[in-house]
Amino acid sequence: MLAHQLLERKRDGGRIGPDEWNAFLRDFVSGAVPDYQMAALLMAVYLRGMDREEIAWLTEAMLGSGATLDLSHLDVARVDKHSSGGVGDKVSLVLAPLVASLGVAVPMMSGRGLGHTGGTLDKLEAIPGMRTDLSLAQARAQIERIGCALFGQTDEIAPADRRMYALRDATGTAASLPLLAASIMSKKLAEGLTGLVLDIKRGSGSFFPETERALQLAHIMTALGEDHGCEVVALITAMDRPLGNACGNALEAEEAIHALRGEGPSDLMEVTYALGAEMLVLGDVAGSPSEARRLMEVAISAGSAAHRFQQIIESQGGDPAVVDDPARLPQARACELYEAPRRGFIAAVEPRAIGEGVLALGGGRRRPVDVVDPTVGFVIRVKPGDWVERGEPLATIFARDDDGVRAGRAALETAIRIGDEAEHPIMLVSHRITFTGATRC
Ligand code: URA
Repeated sequence: MLAHQLLERKRDGGRIGPDEWNAFLRDFVSGAVPDYQMAALLMAVYLRGMDREEIAWLTEAMLGSGATLDLSHLDVARVDKHSSGGVGDKVSLVLAPLVASLGVAVPMMSGRGLGHTGGTLDKLEAIPGMRTDLSLAQARAQIERIGCALFGQTDEIAPADRRMYALRDATGTAASLPLLAASIMSKKLAEGLTGLVLDIKRGSGSFFPETERALQLAHIMTALGEDHGCEVVALITAMDRPLGNACGNALEAEEAIHALRGEGPSDLMEVTYALGAEMLVLGDVAGSPSEARRLMEVAISAGSAAHRFQQIIESQGGDPAVVDDPARLPQARACELYEAPRRGFIAAVEPRAIGEGVLALGGGRRRPVDVVDPTVGFVIRVKPGDWVERGEPLATIFARDDDGVRAGRAALETAIRIGDEAEHPIMLVSHRITFTGATRC
């Protein structure tokens, strides 16, 4: 089958069969299908969608494009978590060492920034020396030794996702439900997991703002897990405001370190504990979410979670001293306060405008080849519903230079709205979905 015939079929609303997806992805990974044909196919999928069966075929083909991690020899559960993408979402940096310190193996394969959202790999690489391009053998050895590896797709593992992900970012096709479901699930199923927890974001800063679409995504992904014998629990969490205070790679790494030392912002901790409780129950380390929460609080207060992060950083070539001294993270050259232009209630902190602002500062990629500046971003001190006085500091802008400060200020002017009435943000954790159905939290 010629690639352009598949493109035409998808463009016209048809389905691509399992063998055709396999062949197309094999040729894409080998270079026989050029990027422009894949980009056209991604757009056709974005516009035409896919049914549940075709999403499973695509996931299978993406999974089969590379090798998988075999961790079945470990005598502990292997559980990971993945987010559908948000702004200020540094949960993975806290959760992976935290859960690993409690005896669950966490083989966490993550992605880079996508669209206006940040990526775990970019945040990790803000740590001086930290490498995320581990080979399968390196990831396996590290998981055997310290229970966790934080790594990205390579030519060996999920290579189709790595290249499709970069193209989606550059072609306005990130917010496609089938592409996102297949991207996440192909990576996660390649990890040889016994359980998976998904953080599906809803709200204006997520790829699927409406609750119905977020639930649909959760149902599809839990079913894909079930197909592969991997138990999946999804939580729907809020992305109508950034999570935590810091947005930008090094700033988020710093906030994650504070969280591991027991000084994290309350919304970040609430989401981390909710997801972590699911991981620990799936991993049979805790019998209930409340027991799991107690274990996590102890791991943080006793320092074992922070110590595990140090071990992971050291093992991946990074500077472990950042955990004791976050000032060792790269620092922005210019920084300025942003103050409230009037008194009133914070009506919105628009995550999409904040994410776009980080991109405008140079903290993300507009093209796959762009180099990310880890130092830039925002620390935002207010949340929707807060009362502020005129002139009160709302945020700090971290930039490369004065032009960056101006771009950051413009982003904050759009993102932070002040009104006369207190508005209520959506619930931080609102739904829990498993293969058997959804419940409200
Ligand atoms: N994370 C992924 O790995 N893939 C996506 O498409 C979105 C978030």
